[in-house]
Amino acid sequence: MIQDAVAKLVCYGLKTGLLGGEDAILTANRLISLLGIDVLDEATEQAITACAGEVQAAGAGQTGAACAGKAAAAGAGEATAAGAYEPAPGELQEILDEIIDYAVETGQVKENTVTYRDLFDTKVMGELTERPSDVIRKFRALYEESPEKATDAFYRFCQDNNYIRRERIAKDRRWKAPTGYGDLDITINLSKPEKDPKAIAAARLAQQSAYPRCQLCYENVGYAGRLNHPARQNLRVIPLKIDGGDWCMQYSPYVYYNEHCIVFNRSHVPMVIDRSVFRKLFDFVRQFPHYFIGSNADLPIVGGSILAHEHFQGGRYEFAMAKAPVEEEIHFDGYSDVKAGIVRWPMSVIRLSGEDAERLTDLADKILTAWRGYTDEAAFIFAETDGEKHNTITPIARMRDGKFELDLVLRNNITTDEHPLGVYHPHAELHHIKKENIGLIEVMGCAILPARLNTEMAALRAAVLEGRDYRADETLEKHADWMDAVRAAHPDLSEANIDEVMQTEIGKVFAQVLECAGVYKRTDEGRAAMRRFIESI
Ligand SMILES: [Zn+2]
Repeated sequence: MIQDAVAKLVCYGLKTGLLGGEDAILTANRLISLLGIDVLDEATEQAITACAGEVQAAGAGQTGAACAGKAAAAGAGEATAAGAYEPAPGELQEILDEIIDYAVETGQVKENTVTYRDLFDTKVMGELTERPSDVIRKFRALYEESPEKATDAFYRFCQDNNYIRRERIAKDRRWKAPTGYGDLDITINLSKPEKDPKAIAAARLAQQSAYPRCQLCYENVGYAGRLNHPARQNLRVIPLKIDGGDWCMQYSPYVYYNEHCIVFNRSHVPMVIDRSVFRKLFDFVRQFPHYFIGSNADLPIVGGSILAHEHFQGGRYEFAMAKAPVEEEIHFDGYSDVKAGIVRWPMSVIRLSGEDAERLTDLADKILTAWRGYTDEAAFIFAETDGEKHNTITPIARMRDGKFELDLVLRNNITTDEHPLGVYHPHAELHHIKKENIGLIEVMGCAILPARLNTEMAALRAAVLEGRDYRADETLEKHADWMDAVRAAHPDLSEANIDEVMQTEIGKVFAQVLECAGVYKRTDEGRAAMRRFIESI
């Protein structure tokens, strides 16, 4: 029953704290209006009122008089108690499915496919999402208590209002794979829905629009979306001042790791790696010391997928690279106050640490400038060929024990006939697992593997256990050499251990992928070449 679903959704809003008690009837009225219904049934109204009363009573019991003042100051009101509510897995999706099904039946949703359903359920959740000024006011009030409290509450809010689709994220596969570089994170992303053919066809006919200019632009806040642009009625962002400029923070809807946030320029300006980026990264970790933050490089192949809009990615997670120790200390003349070293990592990483962010910025800029113009033919490093620049850096900043720390990952995007996708890019024999660009997240030790791998690995597993010839299989053939080697290395391979073995072996491939992306190899020759660069700075 649609009236039931409306009541359940409003109650979900009350229990999670998305709605205050006084918002309940207003929201119910907006929802029925959105669904083309004229009347809120008496039973529905009673259910909603009863739920509001229960949540309020629980809130009064939990917060008590002493905390009430603080809660009110934070603008949280009855939401404080309500915010403690943990929705059951699938709870929200079940309610939304009921509502969307109704909208499909009544012709308000044109096609019963994921693209159209997503556009509609985001509109619905937009009705349970507070206005930006209220969200920002709460964030700032909590930030006064601690940056952690502010991000905790905002992260939860972005999940409760389904901007981060918990149900979809739960579908992703994740595991840790032990390697010589520590435990690498492996994820197979299954939460991005496949585009349905009908929506693709309709999008092709739709007018091309330049609004919003890209998926990172501020104008996405509240945007209804269309077939070729996601709906964002439930997107809220927090404005920040970073190094004197106007920036915003939001969470990534794809959650590649805990509290995966995106920090983006308020203006649609291109990515650039220069001195100012180091200052911006440090200014962010100064404001959010419990988060790391990094930037993708500013060149194709070694950069991220969106180079047109300046942005960083951060979050509350410690990747293997952050845990990797310095294996060789280095010294830069005139910077005795900055600790520097080469990190034990498959890619070429210089780590700087110190108390003074300005001094680290100075030295990082010096290293960047040197690297941009650096050529070492013997090591196959070319600053440019035919006027095309190749050298850049992927920087990552964090606070550690009260000091600023900056990892500078040396990158080069040169291509050759032998390696048309990039010399410092996963090589052809690894493409069966990973051939996409190695961006910031992967640099840090988290593989984001394509969804196809999930089905391919399941089929490969079955073929091995049933003794079938995977080499004869069109889809599995590309994994055959690798699988042969895995079997040779694990003669005891059986149903009992095959999952663990395959996961570990995929981790080893990812370590090799990172080695490919390293400009200096972990050999005597490679180390000597890296030293030559460091001495040239
Ligand atoms: Zn943009």
